[in-house]
Amino acid sequence: MLADYAVHAAESRGRRFPEPQHPYRNDFQRDRDRVIHSRAFRRLEAKTQVFTRRYSDHFRNRLTHTLEVAQIARTIAAQLGLNVDLVEALALVHDVGHPPFGHAGEKALDTIMRAHGFFFDHNLHALRIVEDFELRYAAFRGLNLTFEVREGIIKHSHDYDANQFPELAEYLLDRRPPLEAQLIDLADEIAYSTADLDDGYEARLLTLETIRSGVPVFARFYADAERTYPDVMEKLKFNEAIKRVLDRWVGDLIRNTRDQIVKAGVHSLEEVRACPRRLVALSPEVEEERRRTKAFLYETLYYSPTLDPEKDDAEKIITQLFEFWMAKPDQLPASYQGSADHAPLTRVICDYIAGMTDNYIYEQYEKYHL
Ligand code: MG
Repeated sequence: MLADYAVHAAESRGRRFPEPQHPYRNDFQRDRDRVIHSRAFRRLEAKTQVFTRRYSDHFRNRLTHTLEVAQIARTIAAQLGLNVDLVEALALVHDVGHPPFGHAGEKALDTIMRAHGFFFDHNLHALRIVEDFELRYAAFRGLNLTFEVREGIIKHSHDYDANQFPELAEYLLDRRPPLEAQLIDLADEIAYSTADLDDGYEARLLTLETIRSGVPVFARFYADAERTYPDVMEKLKFNEAIKRVLDRWVGDLIRNTRDQIVKAGVHSLEEVRACPRRLVALSPEVEEERRRTKAFLYETLYYSPTLDPEKDDAEKIITQLFEFWMAKPDQLPASYQGSADHAPLTRVICDYIAGMTDNYIYEQYEKYHL
């Protein structure tokens, strides 16, 4: 049952190119399916989340991370009476704008773009993918997604200033996004914070002791697991602790958001939009746990010197390929050379690189003997 404050598919602001209704799928179900059938979605499998394939084939990549976000977000949405189809579409599309090599790749691409007077932003890039780059349908470029999915791509994690981004004016930048979009940001944080503890431990970059001393909520649940299962192997107790952290945070997010909705007296989507603050939030106590866990992960994992070789590779490969195509645009694929007629070459090269998987960009690098 959809709550009054949820987004109702029948009241969608619609698509850029109007299409007849589908006989048995609503607009958000169709958008979810279009995302799943897109190239950008399939490429997530070969894009780094935190660990490259050098470590293990069973660590998260961007695709499996995306599926975890979708699973967590759907659970929360159903409990809050939000539109699960819209939430699923937003979760599945939320990372398609990421370049190869994880955050290191994003930083490298942004740095080189800034050196040329531009910048790189993965949400804006995701919007360009679904609006323009995906070529799948005969009647239009892009995926022709509903307004609410495009709005969520832009607004789920970040508030853009209308003066700085006049091209985004249609997305109601002075209003809050629907709860379905607000939820994605927190589901993403919860998903990767717990998953990265797990992968970091499996990769032996984080020890049980380090995690126990740096993440008190984990330590408490690990102690519980030790009491309940004193004889099982360490990894299984570890899993029990992670599972309980995940469950605690998700449960808290559901309860606290419900409270926030009641407190704000919000009964409609319009009131959600008009509300001065975002309503999907963890309680202060659990938000502090999440914040502390994230700080721990930055310190011990994301900034770990062990991951430096990959970061150095990301910077070197992206920078050198970028400069190579700037000097020799005739070496770009024909379709990108065509784009350079009506967009700055820097932007065209950036779009090309951002769309690549880790595998493909390595191949390009080797191909040109850089
Ligand atoms: Mg994500």
